Amino acid sequence: MERVVSALVRVSELLSTPGPLEPSLQAVADLSLDLFGANHASIRVVDGSAQLRSVARSGEGSGERAPIFKKGEGLIGWAVDHGQPVRVPNSSEDDRFAHRPDRSFEARSVMSIPLLAGERVLGAFSVSSPTLDAFTAMHEQVAVVLAHAVGQALRCAELERLATTDALTRAFNRSHLVPTLTTEMNRSVRSGKSMSVLLMDLDHFKSVNDEYGHAVGDQVLCRFVDAVRASTRSFDVLVRRGGEEFELVMPNTGTVEGYRVAERIRTRLAEGPLVVREGLAISQTVSVGLATWDGRESAEALDHRADKAMYEAKRRGRNRTVIAAMPPVGSGETTLDTATP
Ligand code: GH3
Ligand code: MG
Ligand code: MG
Repeated sequence: MERVVSALVRVSELLSTPGPLEPSLQAVADLSLDLFGANHASIRVVDGSAQLRSVARSGEGSGERAPIFKKGEGLIGWAVDHGQPVRVPNSSEDDRFAHRPDRSFEARSVMSIPLLAGERVLGAFSVSSPTLDAFTAMHEQVAVVLAHAVGQALRCAELERLATTDALTRAFNRSHLVPTLTTEMNRSVRSGKSMSVLLMDLDHFKSVNDEYGHAVGDQVLCRFVDAVRASTRSFDVLVRRGGEEFELVMPNTGTVEGYRVAERIRTRLAEGPLVVREGLAISQTVSVGLATWDGRESAEALDHRADKAMYEAKRRGRNRTVIAAMPPVGSGETTLDTATP
């Protein structure tokens, strides 16, 4: 009993830790193995394409690629579809169980609990065991409490994301720019690695609106963001700086690598039109200003240098990347950490 209570206290501590949620979800999956005597634990969330995407997994088989589950598929899918817990003592006698050749661990007993936010099912928390009838009604109750805490944390993260991202493109909104730059500058000081930014402005975008209408213009902005995401790494942060202007913050990136990223984005656009819908593809180029942090200047100064370089790219004929010159030594202010007086 004491062990269960202290595990649940730990879960609630982990899920209320500020910062990214993924490491906390992983820690919850890790401690679940011991808590439920399980050989495998997972947290899956429903994504936009009705797939149950694994966000944390622990125990046997977790080093391998996570099998893909769709809503309604397997016991996990059943729990998500019905919004109810499922506890199966012998999966081989349950028709709902999905026998997956890509599963490398034995899942004889299975328990899957939906992650709820009000009426909505956000995903499922699941554990398995190779032993017959491994999970008791008591285990199920504990899992329900744990899943409730995970569901609430996911809901908070979702609300925060809605508040900090632009509703059209889901890039971060402008208010996120200076805080992100400041965080990354501080990280760069600690790691001794460079950081760079790209300021990207769509070329002659007004004519897209004029020719096809605002709604199509909106779609072009979304497809542009898709193209940027497909050309960048998960830790690069994309901010919508204004109408058709975006800034990519690239941690751990010097000028050479930053230029490579810029050109990857630029040529991707220049070489193929953006497909807005079937039968409508629009050619759209982008002008890019690249600035690498000099290790001293403020977030605003770095942004300004990238902006100036972007305007230089426009001036030189658009559809190109211009690298900002480093500021002269001794110029500008050093406002590295806005949290430090
Ligand atoms: P340049 O190559 O010099 O950047 O030319 P441009 O036409 O892209 O630049 P300009 O600043 O003249 O026009 C930007 C246009 O972007 C005008 C504005 O209506 C459009 N725009 C801004 N935000 C949005 C949006 O959210 N949706 C749509 N559809 N258009 C937008
Ligand atoms: Mg423009
Ligand atoms: Mg503009």
